[in-house]
Amino acid sequence: MRKTEFDTVMLEEARAHRRERQSRHVVCPQTTLSAPVVLEGVGLHTGRMIRMDLHPAGAGFGIVFRRTDLGNAGAEVTDIPARYDHVGDTTLSTAIRNDVGTSISTVEHLMAALSALRVDNAFIEVNGPEIPVMDGSSKEFIETIEAIGLKTLNAPRRAVRILKPVVVEDGLKRAALLPGEGFRLAFEIDFDNQVIGHQVIEADFNDPSFNDDILNARTFGMLKDVEAMWSAGLGLGGSLENTIVVDGDRVLNDEGLRFDDEFVRHKVLDAVGDLALAGAPLIGRYEGVRAGHAMNNRVLRALFADRSAWELVELGAAPVAAEGLRAMAVPAE
Ligand SMILES: [Zn+2]
Repeated sequence: MRKTEFDTVMLEEARAHRRERQSRHVVCPQTTLSAPVVLEGVGLHTGRMIRMDLHPAGAGFGIVFRRTDLGNAGAEVTDIPARYDHVGDTTLSTAIRNDVGTSISTVEHLMAALSALRVDNAFIEVNGPEIPVMDGSSKEFIETIEAIGLKTLNAPRRAVRILKPVVVEDGLKRAALLPGEGFRLAFEIDFDNQVIGHQVIEADFNDPSFNDDILNARTFGMLKDVEAMWSAGLGLGGSLENTIVVDGDRVLNDEGLRFDDEFVRHKVLDAVGDLALAGAPLIGRYEGVRAGHAMNNRVLRALFADRSAWELVELGAAPVAAEGLRAMAVPAE
């Protein structure tokens, strides 16, 4: 069969399209969930059953929460971006709030799961003021998201590379972000308690065992603190189902500990979740000493307040220009 001029033109166009598609091939693409998924559980503060609907979202969207219990009040009322500069209360957990004051608390264990599974974009509807606590770790979030799977998006993942040390201190508490390859976290706690005591850990976020070793570690409290909290009407959803409770030299949970040093492992989990509020993965090293949610947020704010302390890079490529910043929800200056 002889090729007509028309066929030749069509063939050229097809080749041009293929070249264009290949040139847009992204080295390390952003991701989102492959399909919507629902999770339900008790809220730690309110003790109420909370339903959470996780939806896929497009490239550059980031992680955004919507309070569906506020009706059709409009996005400026119901929607809260998962960003460090929206962090409000950090007393018992990390709460984020929007410009009109709508807040959602206990985001850190879910943020840790999204971060560890490399979910860049998701729209998350929640029918209450907090994320369900589940078993007190990120385990059920990880399992649910892993079961539904991810899809890649046609846009490069960007990361925040730490260029110089940023340290915040408050008495004996310390949190630091330091330059380094990959993303590593070191943590140290020191409790005047026989079960917890002095614990030190160093963890590599990119290690395949990170999720099992770190993100299964549960939140914890001392019995006297837990009792004081409950009698003050706080932490109404807290129980031995979702909190390790320590009384002197005893762990009150029948099943015991998942790891001998589950306490310091959970502090690393919290740090991963709090630091995920950077809006992009970090490249560098985190060090925490007796640090909690407040210190984790303070060190992120200190990092982004110093424009010479970080740069935005496309993973697997060169640093990107500053106009890319807005899409990644990290501050322009
Ligand atoms: Zn926690």
